[in-house]
Amino acid sequence: MKNFVILLYCVSLFVQTGAVILCLSAFRFLGKFRVAWFILATGFFLMIGRRVTSLVDVYSSDRYHSTDVVLSLLISIFLLVGIYSIRNVFRELENKNNELIKLNRFDFLTQALSRAEIFKQIEAEIERVERSRQPLSILELDIDHFKRVNDRYGHQVGDEILLSLTQCCQSKLRLNDQFGRIGGEEFLILLPDTDASQAFEAAERIRNYVAETPHCTQQGVTIHITISIGISTLKHELSGHGGRAELLPQLLNRADEAMYHAKKMGRNQSVIWSEALHLENIVDAGVPEQ
Ligand code: GH3
Ligand code: MG
Ligand code: MG
Repeated sequence: MKNFVILLYCVSLFVQTGAVILCLSAFRFLGKFRVAWFILATGFFLMIGRRVTSLVDVYSSDRYHSTDVVLSLLISIFLLVGIYSIRNVFRELENKNNELIKLNRFDFLTQALSRAEIFKQIEAEIERVERSRQPLSILELDIDHFKRVNDRYGHQVGDEILLSLTQCCQSKLRLNDQFGRIGGEEFLILLPDTDASQAFEAAERIRNYVAETPHCTQQGVTIHITISIGISTLKHELSGHGGRAELLPQLLNRADEAMYHAKKMGRNQSVIWSEALHLENIVDAGVPEQ
């Protein structure tokens, strides 16, 4: 009987050690809950002492309580199963959380940055301009006559073109540049440490590459598209002017205005925003200047 009791205590010991190891192994995906799980693991580890003292008692003096033997085993098993289940719940929550972060960060169709994320990146870069004293530029891209592609080949082909365009543009960017989709067939590129003339060069490089590249779709059709690009730049001297909150919408509005100017001038071209262009647009629209 003594040997059997020792065996049961040993099983309890192993099972409870398993619970401690499970707690510690959950560290990889527990993020901010790590401290709580470390405390739990420490508690279980200290409880192992109870099993060890009982084991030593049986071994040295043949003294044991049957209820303690059974309870030790049951407690250890319940602890292990409980910890295993809670760990799985945490792991599932962590995976779901990562999926949500990914959905929020990336555009579902093209895997470019989402609208919210690219805006966030531009905002962060605007803050950096003041410190780095380097300008930043953004490019707003819009596919020319994209409606015709959808009308002629269908939406699925249109979707493939959006994905193919994303890959085309991303292949022409530097490591620090960011590419995001802000709406239907409109995209934004963030070019840190880039002045207007460098941004124009980058825009032309991308625009020419897109115009030259045939997009082969799964349906076997080959489509050529062109894009119009509006460029706006934030110079570091101006980054301190006005409220910071106004800089992002101003930068976006200017890129938008330049892009529409490129459309007006015949599409498939890059246009840098300027005060003169702004005045011209005001005159064209017949809106009195404020
Ligand atoms: P423009 O040169 O003036 O930009 O002409 P456009 O036809 O590209 O512009 P318009 O704004 O008239 O049409 C944009 C089209 O983009 C309309 C819509 O069918 C298409 N579009 C928007 N989002 C998606 C999308 O997620 N998938 C597909 N396939 N088409 C989209
Ligand atoms: Mg558009
Ligand atoms: Mg368009």
